Amino acid sequence: MEDTHELEKRVEELNRLLTEYGRAYYVLDRPAVTDAEYDKLMQELLAIEEQHPDLIYPDSPTQRVGGPVLEGFTKVRHEYPMLSLSNVFNEEDIREFDRRVRAGVGDSVTYICELKIDGLAVSLKYEDGRFTQGSTRGDGTVGEDITENLRTIRSIPLKLNESVTIEVRGEAYMPKKSFVKLNEARDEAGDEPFANPRNAAAGSLRQLDPKIAASRNLAVFLYGVGGDGEAYGQAAHSAALDYLDDLGLVTNHERKKCKTIEEVLDYVSSWGGKRAALDYEIDGIVIKVDKFEDQEQLGYTAKSPRWATAYKFPAEEVVTRLLDIELSVGRTGTVTPTAILEPVRVAGTTVGRASLHNEDLIREKDIRIGDDVKIRKAGDIIPEVIGPLTDRRTGDEIEFHMPSDCPVCGSELIRIEGEVALRCVNPQCPAQLKEALIHFVSRNAMNIEGIGERVVDQLYTAGLVKDFSDLYGLTEEQLMTLDRMGEKSASNLVHAIAASKENSFEKLLFGFGIRHVGAKAAQILAREFGSLDNLMAASAEELLAIHEIGDKVTDAIESFFANEDVLEVIGKLKAYGVNMQYRGRTAQEIPEDGPFAGKRVVLTGKLEILTRNEAKEKIETLGGDVSGSVSKKTDIVIAGEDAGSKLAKAEELGIDVWDEAKLIEVLGTKE
Ligand code: NAD
Repeated sequence: MEDTHELEKRVEELNRLLTEYGRAYYVLDRPAVTDAEYDKLMQELLAIEEQHPDLIYPDSPTQRVGGPVLEGFTKVRHEYPMLSLSNVFNEEDIREFDRRVRAGVGDSVTYICELKIDGLAVSLKYEDGRFTQGSTRGDGTVGEDITENLRTIRSIPLKLNESVTIEVRGEAYMPKKSFVKLNEARDEAGDEPFANPRNAAAGSLRQLDPKIAASRNLAVFLYGVGGDGEAYGQAAHSAALDYLDDLGLVTNHERKKCKTIEEVLDYVSSWGGKRAALDYEIDGIVIKVDKFEDQEQLGYTAKSPRWATAYKFPAEEVVTRLLDIELSVGRTGTVTPTAILEPVRVAGTTVGRASLHNEDLIREKDIRIGDDVKIRKAGDIIPEVIGPLTDRRTGDEIEFHMPSDCPVCGSELIRIEGEVALRCVNPQCPAQLKEALIHFVSRNAMNIEGIGERVVDQLYTAGLVKDFSDLYGLTEEQLMTLDRMGEKSASNLVHAIAASKENSFEKLLFGFGIRHVGAKAAQILAREFGSLDNLMAASAEELLAIHEIGDKVTDAIESFFANEDVLEVIGKLKAYGVNMQYRGRTAQEIPEDGPFAGKRVVLTGKLEILTRNEAKEKIETLGGDVSGSVSKKTDIVIAGEDAGSKLAKAEELGIDVWDEAKLIEVLGTKE
């Protein structure tokens, strides 16, 4: 006989653990355990609760969806609850789901299988065809209003092809490539990396500042209609998805209608191998009953529909030996520990290295050199060490300690307040110099074709280039002494380097690789100050007065230009004739008077002669501020063809309305 007391204790413990892990995952976007571990505990709790319904507590994690709403966000009460999905893990589970469905609606059932996108659920509301509100799932009943963040996602149309009022639901996600880039940048900036694209997407959308979401390159796939799908004239989910396509919404086209459970199983198994090739992460397959009539008959539990289930792919985790931990020094001096692994195949490729990010993470996971470790690919793409198999330890494993000095130049490493990473702050550190050179020549910076990591390495080792300016003194003869560098390539390279002198000032500024000064900030600074000299002479107050520039950037700029070595390099670049002047119209040249100075302008409808962007740019250079929505504060609305609700609102509020002809006329007189 089971010991009831023991069982109660286990249920309490499972409740506690799952609540704690759920909070880390849903609220903090920083999971404490792997999904597989979480799922295992959840299945254990579900199994006990099924046998002992008296042990189902009202606040059991099996009865709840998601997590609470983050503070700071406006709450949105969902008109129809946003539920979770039941999970199945193998063929037998899928067949069991099919049996239950057939018992409910008979054998004429048809299914639709969809990819289970690993992101976060969002609800989008459109009124008369216009996007009006977007929210997270939250606890299923109340979510967070993230309208402004969702507006930054390009795959979410702000206007539908029909002027319907509809709530659609889908998954916002971060493509794998963006996830890799984001985590690299976070490592470099000394910030905690995201565990997977799902958490990265959630962490990006649940931010109060929409600029963050805008910078994260998110996307969305819509997978359903909120509430009564039939209200839109469709009889089945598959037809509703086609309808969403017609409306101009993005759905995932890998979906498949299946008449039998065998077809479902084939679809499921076909994706096991194919999913690595997708450029977004999926964590399973969602199997849905297609006809709305059947769905209605099957109904819902408190947490999920009975007419759908999610097959979860087994997490591919493999065990290998951690041979060593190597250190690398990045462009901004961040010292990153990397695991050197006995090569092993995981999710389609052989893995021999994995970033360990920082010392705190190594300590937290208790990873030691010589350990057998479990590894997997985060986002199907980045190798990640999950943790050691401590029961396999022999006692010979070695604890890892970050050195106190830079592994490349030997100067003391510093931990900057509020950062997890250690940094080498010696600007002459060869590792940093090489990384800095690679950045300087890269596409978004000086865009010098013909130099990559290999050539930089050789130039540096040969003592030909120590800083950016040395590039401009290189001769063909010098270049031809390098490995695999023929006459033609050397000559091309010398020309490419010379041509880069004419690059725009913002490219040069970005190329300097000042911490926190990305391409966007470089452009703003260039426009604001007009030249490198002006920027160097700017005070902290002047920098902070710029809307987009904060403390961190200001500090970084000040300390960059306070460095004697930097000044010397800039002097040499000047002598070589590298352009340091902004060629567009600077902020100072923006007239203080004129038709748009200090005016808030909204563009709506279709313009015939100018593109939206051209119009926006021109108005902004004339001192106007172009925004997306009409309010009492709007001064001018420029209405093109088919202008809709914004025009109506402008008229209602008595705002000055111009047509495109008037815009052109005014722009013409000012250019
Ligand atoms: P879920 O992610 O298993 O499934 C429901 C969600 O799937 C929906 O809300 C929707 O957002 C999404 N989805 C993606 N594609 C879809 C499609 N085509 N059609 C319909 N829905 C689609 O459920 P959940 O409640 O969001 O989260 C539970 C899961 O989260 C667990 O199984 C676990 O893996 C993970 N989790 C992990 C931890 C952890 O600590 N690692 C903690 C909590 C939850």
